[in-house]
Amino acid sequence: MIRIVKPGRSPEILTAKGRRRTQTYIRKFNQSPQEYSQGQKTFFFDNEIYGHPSVKVELRLAQHEKCCFCESIIAEAGDVEHFRPKGGYRQDETDDLHQPGYFWLAYEWSNLFLACSTCNSRHKKNLFPLQNPKQRVTTPCSQKALQQEEPLFINPAEVDPANYISFRGWIPFAIADNALGKMTISALGLDRESLNLRRESRFGFLKQLFEILHSSCPEELKQRVQDKINRELQDSAEFAAMARIAIKTSFQE
Ligand SMILES: [Zn+2]
Repeated sequence: MIRIVKPGRSPEILTAKGRRRTQTYIRKFNQSPQEYSQGQKTFFFDNEIYGHPSVKVELRLAQHEKCCFCESIIAEAGDVEHFRPKGGYRQDETDDLHQPGYFWLAYEWSNLFLACSTCNSRHKKNLFPLQNPKQRVTTPCSQKALQQEEPLFINPAEVDPANYISFRGWIPFAIADNALGKMTISALGLDRESLNLRRESRFGFLKQLFEILHSSCPEELKQRVQDKINRELQDSAEFAAMARIAIKTSFQE
C-alpha cells in the first residue's frame, strides 16, 4: 500500500448527477430516518455514476493502474471501492449490519478508490471499524465533521501507509503493533497466501538485481540494473511499498 494522490477536482459526473442524487437521498432520509436505520427503506446506488468510465479513468491514473490497497496491477479491471461503505457498516465481522451507512458519500470523490476484487470483498462485508465506535457519524455531515472519526482502516489518500505498515521480506506487518496497520492488514487480507507468493517472487527478482549491482560485473551492466531497480521503486511498480523496504534494509529478512 502506498500513498495515493488524487486530483483535487472531482470528475464532472460526480459534481453534477452525483450531487443531485445525494441531495435527494438526504431529503428522503430526513423525512423518515428511522425507516432507513431499521432497513425498511434503502437507497438505490447508481454504479453508472460512481463507477462511470470518467471516474475510473481518473482513479486508474492516480493509482497507477494498481489496487489502492494491495498494489496488484488491475489495469482495466477493478471495482470502485467506497472507503466509507455507502449502504451499511459493521464495526467488526461479528457485528450486525448497521444501516443506512455513509449514503451521502456514495458519489463523493474523496471517498472513492479502485480496488481489486479480492480487496473489494472487504466492502462486501461492510467492514468499517473505528477506534471509538461512539464517535461514528451516522447522519449526513460535512467532510470536516467526518474528521472526528478515527477509522481503523488506512486511507491511502490521507496518510502515508509506510508509517503504519512495513515488511519482513515479503510479509507485511504493523509497525510497533499499531492498531491502524494491524486492522488494515487483517481486514483486507494483505498477508493472504496468494499475495505473499507474488510478493515473494518479486522480492527474489529484486534481490537478484541487488546482488548483480554489488558484484564485480561491468559498469554498463550495473547501470542498467540500477535503472531497473529504480523503476521497481516508483509508485507505478507493483508492490512498490515492499520493494522500498527491501532495498532500504538491503534484503535483511
Ligand atoms: Zn487489492
